[in-house]
Amino acid sequence: MDLDRTIQTSEPWAAPASAVLESLGGTEHGLTAAEASARLDSHGRNMLAPPKPAPWWKRVLLQFKDVLIYVLLASALLKAIIGDWVDFAVILAVAVINAVIGLVQEGRAEQALNAIRGMMSTQAHVMRAGVWIEVDAAELVPGDVVRLRAGDRVPADLRLLDAANLQVDESALTGEAEPSTKFTEPVAPTAELGDRSSMMFSGTLVAAGTGRGVVVATGVNTEIGHIQTLVTEVESVETPLAIALARFGRLIAWTIVAMTLVMTAIGFFVHGFGLQEIVSAAIGFAVAAIPEGLPALVTITLALGVQQMARRHAITRRLPAVEALGSVTVICSDKTGTLTKNEMTARAVRTAAHEYEVEGTGYAPEGVITRDGAPAPASANPDLQALAEAVAVCNDARVVGAAGDWRIVGAPTEGALAVLGHKAGVDGGTWQREAEVPFDSETKYMAVLARGDGGEAYVFLKGAPDRVLTRATTQTQPDGSAAPIDVAHWQRQISELGQRGLRVLAAARRRADAGAATLSHADLETGFEFIGVVGIVDPPRPEAIVAIATSHRAGVAVKMITGDHPDTALSIAREMGITSGGDAGAGDAGADAAEPRVLTGAELEAMSDEQLRAVAGTVDVYARTSPEHKIRIVSALQHEGEVVAMTGDGVNDAPALTQADVGVAMGLKGTEATKEAADLVLTDDNFATIERAVEEGRRIYSNIRKSILFLLPTNGGQSLVILIAVLIGATQLPLEPVQVLWINMATSVTLSLALAGAGAEPGLMDQPPRGKDAPLLDARMGVRIGVVSLLVAAATMFSFYFEDGHGENLAQSQTTAVTTLALCQLAYLFSCRFLDRSSLSLEVFRGNRVIYISAAVLIVLQLAFVYLPFMHDWFGSDVIDWHQWGLSALLAIVVFVLAEVNKALTRRIGESGGAR
Ligand code: ATP
Repeated sequence: MDLDRTIQTSEPWAAPASAVLESLGGTEHGLTAAEASARLDSHGRNMLAPPKPAPWWKRVLLQFKDVLIYVLLASALLKAIIGDWVDFAVILAVAVINAVIGLVQEGRAEQALNAIRGMMSTQAHVMRAGVWIEVDAAELVPGDVVRLRAGDRVPADLRLLDAANLQVDESALTGEAEPSTKFTEPVAPTAELGDRSSMMFSGTLVAAGTGRGVVVATGVNTEIGHIQTLVTEVESVETPLAIALARFGRLIAWTIVAMTLVMTAIGFFVHGFGLQEIVSAAIGFAVAAIPEGLPALVTITLALGVQQMARRHAITRRLPAVEALGSVTVICSDKTGTLTKNEMTARAVRTAAHEYEVEGTGYAPEGVITRDGAPAPASANPDLQALAEAVAVCNDARVVGAAGDWRIVGAPTEGALAVLGHKAGVDGGTWQREAEVPFDSETKYMAVLARGDGGEAYVFLKGAPDRVLTRATTQTQPDGSAAPIDVAHWQRQISELGQRGLRVLAAARRRADAGAATLSHADLETGFEFIGVVGIVDPPRPEAIVAIATSHRAGVAVKMITGDHPDTALSIAREMGITSGGDAGAGDAGADAAEPRVLTGAELEAMSDEQLRAVAGTVDVYARTSPEHKIRIVSALQHEGEVVAMTGDGVNDAPALTQADVGVAMGLKGTEATKEAADLVLTDDNFATIERAVEEGRRIYSNIRKSILFLLPTNGGQSLVILIAVLIGATQLPLEPVQVLWINMATSVTLSLALAGAGAEPGLMDQPPRGKDAPLLDARMGVRIGVVSLLVAAATMFSFYFEDGHGENLAQSQTTAVTTLALCQLAYLFSCRFLDRSSLSLEVFRGNRVIYISAAVLIVLQLAFVYLPFMHDWFGSDVIDWHQWGLSALLAIVVFVLAEVNKALTRRIGESGGAR
């Protein structure tokens, strides 16, 4: 094949579809696998170039863009002015080490997010060698025939071959918010991008309808490839939390500057320190007080958490969602496929006079249909025959495979009906489909116009029984003839099957005019002959039942939102423990408990927003809903102060997902439009994954709090030592500024990272959700930070003055003080492992390997500080003996115990104050 011909379609919108297809060397049956692979080699993968990363020097410089670092650099400058070059070098070293740590962590965060981007590759439906298959959109080549439906993202630039009610949202490309309607007719060669109605462009979204097109351009040759590189899929690392922390950093910076000035004034005027001395002390104070590791710490905690969640099937698309997840109070979940397995099997068939049971499991087309316990072949039962025929013909699913490995291609509901057709021995393939109205969760039905062997034409309708009933005037009798409809009979049947937890679908038919060739909703209004109903089981996912119980324990309500019948929905909701309402004698809320807490879409529509808000909290099951109801449910719950996670899969679910605090899309059956509106994408479509993600959200948030709880007293303690020494007019500082820098450096490369990836504390899901507006640091944490700062400062000063008082030289006393500080921080790290629970238990030593690695590195660094001669030159340290080590260790243990006492006291105050 002449590959050059494939790029000779410069204005495909102006040429007839068939001509474009031919010029691309394609056919209606698609390319062969060999041809596709050859074209892939010559055209390259259908991908846009990823954005160029910022040059390394820019990234390094960005690390210094932080007020806290400015203070540090200003200190270094002062040191240079007074000619204290060693200190100058050490301060600069700290700033550089901090930048390196920041870079490395940012790199890891970036890597984690990139990996997630990779997981979100889109799939495309392509015809290859006459068969529709699903491939990674990156493997599309010019000449491929692709089909699209509402909610899909267009994977390449396409010339349309067919279009049915096709509307495309092209705002990504043209900025035009209104979807444009697409046709197959050629347009003028001069048509602007927005007017090329015979084309679909890569990156745009199908808003409605279905279509088929031939790929004319891929990758960078597409229209979107001309104007931009990769559409950013995962947002940057800015989260409300990071912003709050940046604000917090600025506050700390200004406090430090103010206190430094006050300290300088007091030292200079009250105690008569020399200028050099007081500047040195002031710098020491400033450097000690700066928690320069804080921003990087939050980034890495979030990034590690996001990575961990991805491993557990939940892909985060927007980082702020991680925080919101931890405070979710209500999860609104779809039923089919999320709470249930979406493995449908028809179990019962009801016709006007008969009750049939269907045997067999799964999608295997093997199993007998019985009536009153005896096999009932369709050939001997015209009513069953008519029903099986209707559901087999009005069906887009196929049963494939062989004994032991039966699968279906298509939607599970349809698959179950196709299997039923096989079990009844009906061959839908003998019917020729002329036209169709596809299934839509809004209308809840599907219809086809088909012509049988004998040339007779029928419209077959199948869908939610209530929708089919209103369109029927007659019903099929056991002998296959029609009689006036008995609506009450059908309602009883529907309700009975629904109460068994079965999904009920109805089938109807109507003779069509001999010449009829089209079908629209208007043709489906009335005049149908109701054939019967089918009850389909869809077993609950056992892990979802466990997850619902866990959610309830964690104070998170679960609501089922389904398009299914209220009886079916309620029965499954009960089975899964979502609701206990409606059980005889259940609960203690009197009349309320006897009321099943189910609201239907119709009831919801009749309610005002105020009325809905009043009941939204207590309704557990929303049945027969349409996607647009979801947004009202989310809004009502949010208005009542709930933090809502909402799932969705269809294109119409996108607005509700955007409105929810955490929009959750289904990775497997969800449309691209839904995934793009979502904060979280479930790669396994499983409810249990949402519950786990909530748990992860809580863990990540609690780890960030722990890290702050650890980091701040570290800086508080060091700076207090210098502040107090100056304020009391001590001539010798217990810590030299370079020593403070040393300890900052040593702990920031070791200890402060130990909490970032720590596992969940036991009992995390036994607590109620954190309040929506609860501050990151509450008063109790503030008290703890203050008290521990004082304890660390006291221990450090004690060790210095104790040694000083025993006649040790300055270097030794200071080295002991530095060692005490390092060990106190190590001990305090163990206290921070549990946010509120006591760490005075052996459990504190288990479950976090990173703590031991960082502790070991810290000890090695500290040994170097004490014993290596060049360190003595640099940091003014000296060798200390075992009893000085012993004193430091003892003081660290005392600080640990007192920090625990303080934790217990603040916990008790918190409990009696009712705060959490
Ligand atoms: P969820 O529980 O996740 O909301 P659902 O499957 O219950 O999903 P829909 O898929 O919108 O919701 O289905 C709503 C109703 O439409 C079903 O109860 C069924 O009666 C009917 N239905 C479902 N699939 C089809 C189909 N392929 N053809 C005709 N009717 C269908």
